[in-house]
Amino acid sequence: MSNRHARTDVILIGAGIMSATLGTLLKELVPDWEIKVFEKLANTGEESSNEWNNAGTGHAALCELNYTVEKPDGSIDISKAIKINEQFQVSMQFWSYLVNSNLIRNPQDFIMPLPHMSLVQGERNVAFLKNRFEALSNNPLFQGMEFSDDPGKLMEWIPLIMKDRTSNEPIAATKIDSGTDVNFGALTRMLFDHLKSKNVDVKFKHNVDDIKRTSDGLWELKVRNADSGNVERHTAKFVFIGGGGGSLHLLQKSGIPEGRHIGGFPVSGLFMVCNNPDIVAQHHAKVYGKAKVGAPPMSVPHLDTRYIDNKKSLLFGPFAGFSPKFLKSGSIFDLLTSVKTDNLVTMLAAGAKNVSLTKYLIEQVMLSKEKRMEELREFIPSAKSEDWDIVVAGQRVQVIKDTADGGKGTLQFGTEVVSAADGSIAALLGASPGASTAVHVMLEVIKKCFPQHIKEWEPKIKEMIPSFGVSLLENPELIDEIHTSTARTLGLEGKKQYAYA
Ligand SMILES: Cc1cc2nc3c(=O)[nH]c(=O)nc-3n(C[C@H](O)[C@H](O)[C@H](O)COP(=O)(O)OP(=O)(O)OC[C@H]3O[C@@H](n4cnc5c(N)ncnc54)[C@H](O)[C@@H]3O)c2cc1C
Repeated sequence: MSNRHARTDVILIGAGIMSATLGTLLKELVPDWEIKVFEKLANTGEESSNEWNNAGTGHAALCELNYTVEKPDGSIDISKAIKINEQFQVSMQFWSYLVNSNLIRNPQDFIMPLPHMSLVQGERNVAFLKNRFEALSNNPLFQGMEFSDDPGKLMEWIPLIMKDRTSNEPIAATKIDSGTDVNFGALTRMLFDHLKSKNVDVKFKHNVDDIKRTSDGLWELKVRNADSGNVERHTAKFVFIGGGGGSLHLLQKSGIPEGRHIGGFPVSGLFMVCNNPDIVAQHHAKVYGKAKVGAPPMSVPHLDTRYIDNKKSLLFGPFAGFSPKFLKSGSIFDLLTSVKTDNLVTMLAAGAKNVSLTKYLIEQVMLSKEKRMEELREFIPSAKSEDWDIVVAGQRVQVIKDTADGGKGTLQFGTEVVSAADGSIAALLGASPGASTAVHVMLEVIKKCFPQHIKEWEPKIKEMIPSFGVSLLENPELIDEIHTSTARTLGLEGKKQYAYA
């Protein structure tokens, strides 16, 4: 059976953090626009945005070594770290606005203060970390960062990692207390609860099968109700494809020329989760290491305190791997069916260029639990297998496209907004830095798709995000103001807390 429904202003496909953020921004900017959401699963935030499917790091480049690259002359390029930090400050301001406006009640339900640390071993890596510390610590965005190569100090910071360590190799860490653990699943659910209270119609178990442009310039979606099997047709003036790993297929179905020559490379993930509360209590930080030679940036190992289901947990990983699925709940044919005539050459070129990466990811999938324990023991020398279980994380679909500097079929590690020239449809592809920068990325969607409204909306955007349109780095006093006010509003202030405390 097929039903035709009345047209609406906005349709958001997918109920993850991206649609949640865009919907909330639009509801604040134009409360009377009608918004509908279609989600194929039974609840909000069940795919990558779910707290068990991602690492929950509030990515502000405080600890991720891949955001600061060593240049051939030995100096450190911090431009990417600055960019990501500034983008995270945008999220922090918007989340604070939501709390101050009572749209979100208790910030501790989704964000917790947690030191972010980088940890390296070996003389060369210690020298790199020191250089990186010197390059960052004078920058107002990274104020409060500490460095130590003193095992006594490190024992105080990370006792679980330092005790029982027999290696005599030099070891060093940086630590910054203004880091965060973010429960993106909880945040997604809170934002959708708010949207539902504003009459946003959220339909679960509704799979968007097809997207077509109508003769009058609208978008018509073919939506299948998973329970009844009924097919419905919904039209909208603006469509956001926030399907996470499912976005590429939907973008291809829309047929917009901007979506051509783009492919996706799926990377799966596994975490090890500690089931022993005594061990969990001995660690209080996110500790990021260095990616192994040949390993992709998304496989950087880290040992993280997490706040999930109202309790402290300890997760290690993610172990990247290969799976042809684009969503955790997806199909093994996802990769195959994403290859179209327009992206075939791009995909073949990417395949040829990334043989060693694919081999690495397949080898990673085959690792036994004991092999994974060996990697964990580089962090916790005394880790026992019985204290750790394996959990399957979300899928990350990296964008493949042709670029001027990389050539045909270049694998991208960032996020990418692809929109039609007339701004009537936009899709979000890619997975990194991900949910942390959702507000910045959704503002990009708004700027690209609604340029005619930006002047009129700017005062409200500035009310929500005071740094909108301003370079934070050129306004150090604004950085101070934002750090202080967001920390206070989001409950991130307070005394230092070490493990055992
Ligand atoms: C292992 C791992 C670790 C990560 N770590 C971090 C981290 O530490 N910090 C960070 O900031 N980010 C991290 N990320 C990235 C972050 O999780 C994602 O960027 C973010 O969750 C993406 O949100 P989304 O809304 O685009 O997608 P999702 O949360 O995946 O939501 C997409 C939704 O669309 C639905 N959907 C798809 N296709 C259709 C369709 N045809 N019809 C209807 N519904 C559809 C899906 O069911 C899903 O609910 C990580 C990701 C992974 C996988």
